[in-house]
Amino acid sequence: MAETPIAAARISASTACASRTKSSPAAEARLPESELRLRVQERIKEGRLPVEVITLINGGFGGGQTCAVCDTPVTRDKVKYDVVDPRNADQLIFHFACYVIWQRECARRIRAGDSRR
Ligand SMILES: [Zn+2]
Repeated sequence: MAETPIAAARISASTACASRTKSSPAAEARLPESELRLRVQERIKEGRLPVEVITLINGGFGGGQTCAVCDTPVTRDKVKYDVVDPRNADQLIFHFACYVIWQRECARRIRAGDSRR
């Protein structure tokens, strides 16, 4: 009985390791804001992200889902923002920082009258 917590910890540690698909430790490094903004603009151009000001979001910790902006997983130790795409009801997952940059870009375009819908 006393060994159970240790065994459980060992299992979860090795699972966390195995679920890391990218071999480079730099894969999780944060991109600079200018780079993220470029990606947001690309995603909007590709139609992967809507130009909408989102009013309903769910927050939480990530579970390894791929961020819609930077394409890296939102790991369990990071805050995840969870949005429903108003165009097709798809779920979009973001890092907190990526979400903020996307929404800033949306607000800017809507103000400028360039929503490209
Ligand atoms: Zn991201």
